[in-house]
Amino acid sequence: MIYLDYQATTPVAPEVVKAMQPWIDDNFANPHSPSRWGREADAAIEHARAQLDKAIDVPGGSVAFTGSATEALNWALRGTIERAPTGRNRIITLATEHAAVLDTCEWLAEQGVDLTVLPVGRDGLLDLDLLERELDDRVALVAVMLVNNEIGVLQPVGEIANMAHNVGALMLCDAVQALGRVELPDNADLIAVSAHKIHGPKGIGALWMRQGEEPKPLIHGGGQERGLRSGTLSPALCVGFGAAAELAASRMSRDYDHVHKLWSAALDALGDGWTINGSTRHRYYGNLNIRRKNVDGARLIADLRDIAFSLGSACASGSGRPSHVLRALGLDYREARGSVRLGFGRYTHKDELVEACRRIAHAAEAQERAFA
Ligand code: PLP
Repeated sequence: MIYLDYQATTPVAPEVVKAMQPWIDDNFANPHSPSRWGREADAAIEHARAQLDKAIDVPGGSVAFTGSATEALNWALRGTIERAPTGRNRIITLATEHAAVLDTCEWLAEQGVDLTVLPVGRDGLLDLDLLERELDDRVALVAVMLVNNEIGVLQPVGEIANMAHNVGALMLCDAVQALGRVELPDNADLIAVSAHKIHGPKGIGALWMRQGEEPKPLIHGGGQERGLRSGTLSPALCVGFGAAAELAASRMSRDYDHVHKLWSAALDALGDGWTINGSTRHRYYGNLNIRRKNVDGARLIADLRDIAFSLGSACASGSGRPSHVLRALGLDYREARGSVRLGFGRYTHKDELVEACRRIAHAAEAQERAFA
């Protein structure tokens, strides 16, 4: 199998597996219990927290571990609205956000929150003048993703955070696809991340919170994570997340250079006839979302079963609905249906990527011939 679905999930790094192993094999203690083994597990979790905080590299706050980035985003949105002062009942977000943000915002709107979902341009970027016109002192939170999971486009989150702060609102950044790949802005108040997108294990995410801006808890119980997020933590998952974060931070420029070379190789191998979805300049280059006339993306995927690539977000793929992100760029139904996403990264070999792209191009040409 040639794996080109790095936005859906990433292969677990061998260093991460090694770091996790003792916490699966030997030490099964509850990290919140006072025994010596419990305290050892707790110390391992605190080390992992420090590794993750360092990789996020934003001063003035720290992470709480969660079960996923989806949970972190739900918590940030709901918990911030819950603690917002009276009169601040508005959320501004973008049409290209992940379902974990959009669906939670829709749910909040049903509870009476005033929701504004801003459109993006044909290149996937937010028009900052439009945001400026929308911002007012009723806004509690602005939620914007740094690197888009479907099209790789990079939003100017640093500037957006400044603008949010100017009207007294907080900024939530979904940095799930950005951590370890691009530098995170240092002025967001809440940052959601996920281990499995950075070569760590599945089933663990985190919410970085600026001190003093912690949302109200979403999950109540034993009072773990400073009383903010209850539930027994898994030392193995936390240690894996910490190791993955440290590794990603230490290899960031090396991984970035590798990905840049892969991007050029992929475009060469695909040849003519493709259009790239989203800005080619403001982007992370490990995400290549392309479309072609008279091609059906789902059929391409079905034709090439030994290449793992996708139509867009893994969550949307099963639904049969065209991607909300591609529709937000202004693509019509057929253009969205004719799009596929190739995702590559640290462990992708150039040769396998080139082979996959050539085969994708051949399969697309065959479809075009059949259509003509
Ligand atoms: N946000 C973005 C941009 C994502 O790509 C994903 C995963 O697809 C999520 C949030 C949700 O992350 P998790 O799988 O940890 O719930």
